[in-house]
Amino acid sequence: MKLERSNRLQKLPPYLFADLRRKMAEARAKGVDVITLGIGDPDFPTADPVVKELVRAIDDKQDANRHRYGCDVPVEALPDAIQRFYARRFGVQLELDQIVVTMGSKDAIAKFPMAFLNPGDVALATEPGYPTYNIGHTFAGAVTHYLPLLADNDYLPDLDATPAAVRRLGKLLWLNYPNNPTTAVCDLAFYERAVEFARANELLICSDLAYSENTFDGFVAPSALAVDGAEDSVVEFFSLSKAFSMTGWRVGCAVGHRDAVAGLRSVQDNVDNGQLRAIQAAAVVALDHADELIPPINDVYRRRRDLVIATLNQLGWDLEAPKGTLYLWVPVPDGFDGSIAFAAHLLETAGVAVTPGIGYGEHGEGFFRISLTYPDKVLKEAMERLAGAL
Ligand SMILES: *Cc1c(COP(=O)(O)O)cnc(C)c1O
Repeated sequence: MKLERSNRLQKLPPYLFADLRRKMAEARAKGVDVITLGIGDPDFPTADPVVKELVRAIDDKQDANRHRYGCDVPVEALPDAIQRFYARRFGVQLELDQIVVTMGSKDAIAKFPMAFLNPGDVALATEPGYPTYNIGHTFAGAVTHYLPLLADNDYLPDLDATPAAVRRLGKLLWLNYPNNPTTAVCDLAFYERAVEFARANELLICSDLAYSENTFDGFVAPSALAVDGAEDSVVEFFSLSKAFSMTGWRVGCAVGHRDAVAGLRSVQDNVDNGQLRAIQAAAVVALDHADELIPPINDVYRRRRDLVIATLNQLGWDLEAPKGTLYLWVPVPDGFDGSIAFAAHLLETAGVAVTPGIGYGEHGEGFFRISLTYPDKVLKEAMERLAGAL
């Protein structure tokens, strides 16, 4: 058999959560009762009005197209709802040719580089960061140049420090605020600087806005497209997953730069056939009811955030409450040889699984990530165990 995994697949680092899942399975096999705080997948169910619309739409016998390919007979109301949402929420006016519906953003982020990168090309991404940017580059045969996110710079990239050769060759620049895993947020002034940098170096900013709606304490996350003239320099990936507790539904959008949107659409046309119409219809209801549906979700995350931070700070940490995301980014305590050793210790002695920071890139070393997507009582129990293990 000539079947061997392709170089591009072999080149990928091991899927971060696959390793975590394997270690948890090993611990469970040894009889450890494992609590995982590792994975960022919201625990509470999608809101009723959204579910009801899905059920209505899939059972709508008047709709002769309800079973068909979602790309051929799209729900026209969804781009309109995205347009309304962007205008209301971010003050950004999008034309319809600036919007493409996606099957969640992971899919779109992985596909997008295929539209614009060739083997040997360079694309920039911040690190520690979401692994899918690099995966998309690698699948396209391109190379990632990483910009470190450091606490000293509030986890914003130092764009001016980008080497001249990378500025010349780089085609894309991925930004993600509110940021996974560092939990940092940015303001519009940062996007203004980034757009200026993108213009000066003729590259496209790919803004991953997965957590724009998961913010706390009055912080409102801006869109990079709110910068004047940004539609010439920015494509933005928005997803309903984290905002509306809809990760399994696979629906989002890419918006902004017209050629970027058209390029992604072209990859989609060749690879997938769009999302189920009933899911598209339900997404309209979610977006149109964002103002009622999102605050109760964020109240829960804020309560959990405060609960975990209070415990950790009692144990000797000195953490500030993050303004966004579903995570806490926590320094590994003294006395452990790195984030993997700490995570392994915690799993073995306390049965608590956290994600080691190095899994998100070399500058993630020295940190671990706790996800707040678990019920309060699970988080409380995990904190008690953590206190016992230190
Ligand atoms: C969760 C996540 C996404 C994508 O989520 P989808 O469910 O694919 O929309 C994108 N970017 C970051 C940083 C994430 O954490």
